[in-house]
Amino acid sequence: MIKDASNGSRSVHLNPVQPTVEPTLNASSTLFGRPDYTVTAAMPTNTLKTRHKIGSKGADRKGAGRASASKGWTERDAGGLQILQADALTKIPWLIHGFSTRPGGASGLAGEKVLNLGFAEWDTKENVLENRRRFQSAIGADSFTLIALKQIHSDVIHLFEDFPAEPCRGDASATNRSGLLLAVQTADCVPILLADLKRRAIAAVHAGWRGTLQRIVAKTIGKMQMQFGSRPADMLAAIGPSIGGCCYEVGTEVASEFRSQFSNASDWFDELRTGDEPNPLQWLNMAPPGHQPPPKNVLLDLRKANRAQLLDAGLREQNIIVSDLCTACRRDLLFSHRKEAGTTGRLLSVIGIKYSGLSSRNNR
Ligand SMILES: [Zn+2]
Repeated sequence: MIKDASNGSRSVHLNPVQPTVEPTLNASSTLFGRPDYTVTAAMPTNTLKTRHKIGSKGADRKGAGRASASKGWTERDAGGLQILQADALTKIPWLIHGFSTRPGGASGLAGEKVLNLGFAEWDTKENVLENRRRFQSAIGADSFTLIALKQIHSDVIHLFEDFPAEPCRGDASATNRSGLLLAVQTADCVPILLADLKRRAIAAVHAGWRGTLQRIVAKTIGKMQMQFGSRPADMLAAIGPSIGGCCYEVGTEVASEFRSQFSNASDWFDELRTGDEPNPLQWLNMAPPGHQPPPKNVLLDLRKANRAQLLDAGLREQNIIVSDLCTACRRDLLFSHRKEAGTTGRLLSVIGIKYSGLSSRNNR
């Protein structure tokens, strides 16, 4: 365990001694769901078969299933599942990664078969483990050990050298070891996968509004700099599907918190549109008497906020790949905790370093 010098408050775990958490389901609260614990998934084989290059914009609710990923993304069919991948990461020969989607899977949700990858009260543990097995198989990561954190909307980052003996609480993980499949679970929050191409180090980050406010992605990059000697200019970042600025309504107090922390926060917020009001972002400027009162809620674009943090950290613009799929707009394809009132599944975003051959471990 290493004391973190960068922000003075967090510790980093380098070996399998972790704070213990109950491997139970914690039926979520507040804005986002929060499952879960670590688990090892295993076996089968089957890799990606089809690929679709897809256009830009989302389909309607009934366009069911076809991803329509953003530019720079590809949707692949494998084992009855649809996997989203960032082309820039797919090109890296030592890397494996994928963002799951909703269709397929063993779980039943309101009469629909879904690929729920997080433990939840409405689903069985067996289904989730089976879904994880299928997902790993679909991306060709059968032999990898999945490390899913117990996410707590924090800025706690774990560095893994091996599979942890106990589940870990936190919201980001990083490693330079092969065979570990770092995972974050989301259903609206922003999943971010990072890869340092020079040092061969990777990270997976979960950023809801709290994590974004706490700069978790920037801190993860800082951690990778300290631990692996990573340089932001050598890094790729893939920001996966999340709730978009179109749908993510938050109270103005959230906006105020962001404004107190980030000089460019106003770029990430928008007013709710009713159709005929000018006065954009009046709430930011303390309206003088006589003007219309500031709105109670505003729209927050978490992707923009995290992209800005990545740029500030030193990543090159062309190395940041952002999915424009909105979890709330695309419930045919994704899970939205918000739009589905909490009873929904979890998407999994994973990244891992392939075995080099020399470092292969038996049965893993
Ligand atoms: Zn939306």
